[in-house]
Amino acid sequence: MEGEVKLDILKNRTGKSAEIPKDYSPEAFRENIATVDASGKRVWIYPKKPSGRLHRARAIVAVVLLAFLFSAPLIKIGGQPMVLLNVFERRFVIFGQAFWPQDFILLAITLLTFFVFIILFTVVFGRVWCGWACPQTIFMEMVFRKIEYLIEGDMAAQRRLARAPWTFDKIWKKTLKHSIFVGISLLIAHTLMSYLIGIEATWKIVNESPKDHLAGFSGLLGFTGIFYGVFAFFREQACIAVCPYGRLQGVLLGRDSIVVAYDWVRGEPRGKLRKNAVTVQDQGDCIDCTLCVQVCPTGIDIRNGTQLECVNCTACIDACDDVMIKIGKPTGLIRFASYNSIKNGIQKIWNGRVAAYSVVLLLLLVGLSAALVTRSDVETTFLKVSGTLYQREPGYITNLYNAEFVNKTFEDITLELRVEEPAYAELHKVDGGTVSVPAEAMSKSVYFIKIPEDKVTSARTVVRVGVYRDGEKIDNLKVKFIGPVTHAGAVRR
Ligand code: SF4
Ligand code: SF4
Repeated sequence: MEGEVKLDILKNRTGKSAEIPKDYSPEAFRENIATVDASGKRVWIYPKKPSGRLHRARAIVAVVLLAFLFSAPLIKIGGQPMVLLNVFERRFVIFGQAFWPQDFILLAITLLTFFVFIILFTVVFGRVWCGWACPQTIFMEMVFRKIEYLIEGDMAAQRRLARAPWTFDKIWKKTLKHSIFVGISLLIAHTLMSYLIGIEATWKIVNESPKDHLAGFSGLLGFTGIFYGVFAFFREQACIAVCPYGRLQGVLLGRDSIVVAYDWVRGEPRGKLRKNAVTVQDQGDCIDCTLCVQVCPTGIDIRNGTQLECVNCTACIDACDDVMIKIGKPTGLIRFASYNSIKNGIQKIWNGRVAAYSVVLLLLLVGLSAALVTRSDVETTFLKVSGTLYQREPGYITNLYNAEFVNKTFEDITLELRVEEPAYAELHKVDGGTVSVPAEAMSKSVYFIKIPEDKVTSARTVVRVGVYRDGEKIDNLKVKFIGPVTHAGAVRR
C-alpha cells in the first residue's frame, strides 16, 4: 500500500506513467534519490509554486541578501573596495582592510572559526543556512524558478509544456526563459568577477576589446556558462550530489537538531479526508493530499523523515499549514522540530555535543580576536644572509642580514630600524637612509649589525631591534647574531 502511495506521488510529480518495479519497497527512499528513476535516468522535478508565511519571509531575506551581493563590489570604504578576494594576485580586502598572504594564520583561524560555527549551528538548527542564505537556493528558488513560473506557469502547466510538441507557443516561451536565464547568469558572472578582480578591472573587460583581456573575457564566459548550466539544468543536483555541506548532514544532525520535520505522532495513520466527516477516529491529521511532496524542489516526501536531499526550504511547511487551515486542524503538522521533541515532547538544545562545539568555538573566537588585535600594518622579516656566518673588521664582528618589509596599508610609509639592546650593538643599512615602502607593496633592504669584538662572548647573541614608523615603534624583532666563539666559550681566531 505504502509503495503504491509513493509511486502515485512520483506519478503526480513527474507526469510519467510509473509501474511498480518487482523489487519496489516502501523503504526505497533510503536507497534511492527521488530525482533518479529505476533505470538511472534523471527525474525532472516540477515543484508546485510555493506560497505562504515562511515563503514570504524567505523572499524578504533573499531580497536583502541579493541586494548586498550585487552592491558590495560597488561600495568603497576609504577609497578601497568593501570586499575584494583577488586570489590571482593574493590580495584580499575586507571592509576596506587589506589582508596579505602573510596574514595566513589569521585566515586559517577565521576559516576554522567559520567551519566550527557552521557545524555548531547545524547541530542545533539543521540546514537553516541551505534554505535561507545559500546563494544556490536563493538564486534557484527566488530568481530562476520565479521566472520559470512567470513564463511557463505552475507545475501542471510546465509539465504540459514539456510534453507538448514544438509549437510556436512552446518555442517562444522556452526561448524567452532561456534568454533571461543567460542574461542573469551573465550578471552573476560579472558580479563574481568584481569580487575577484575589482569593479574597475571588470568594467575594463566589458568596455575594451576581448583581445586585450583574453583571460578575463574567457573567465566571464566560463562563469556565465557554469551558472546557466547549474540554474537551468543541474538545479537541485548541486545540493544533492555536489555540495559537501549537504553530504555532511548525516554526521552533523542529531535527534535534538531542529529541522523541517513531519509530526508522525500526530499525522499517522494518514488517510484521505472523507466526505461528510471532518475527523475519523482512527486516522491521524495527515490527509495524504501529497501537497508537501508536490511543492518540494528536491522531490522528496518529508513524511519519510529527515533526508539528505532536504534543503530546509520550508515550502512543505507552508503547503501543509494551508491544508490544515482548510480542514480546520492546528497548523504545524510539518514544522521546525527535532526528532526527540516529536517523539517525546522534549525540545532540548543543550547537550554534550553542543557544549563541546561551543567550547571549541569560544576558544577560536578568543584566538581570532587576539590575532586581529595584534595584527600589524607592516610585516617585517629579518634574516641572516644565507651561507654567511660572520665577518671581521678592525675591532668589530659583523653579521649581514636581508630585511623584507610588507606594507599592508593603502599609503606609502617610511620605516626605520633601531637597535634596542644590547646598547653596544650597531645597526646599519648597507646603502644608508631609511626604508620607503609603497602602498600595498613590498620592499627589500640589506643591513649589517656590528658588535665590538671584546663584547662578543657567546656563539649566539640576541639583538633586539625596533621597527619605527614616523618615530613610533610598530614592531619588535629578535635577531640572532653569530660570533666567533665556540659553544665551549673559546674565541676563534
Ligand atoms: S501536506 Fe500535510 S496533510 Fe498533505 S500530505 Fe503533506 S503532511 Fe499530509
Ligand atoms: S522536504 Fe520540505 S523543506 Fe525539505 S526541501 Fe522539500 S519542501 Fe523543502
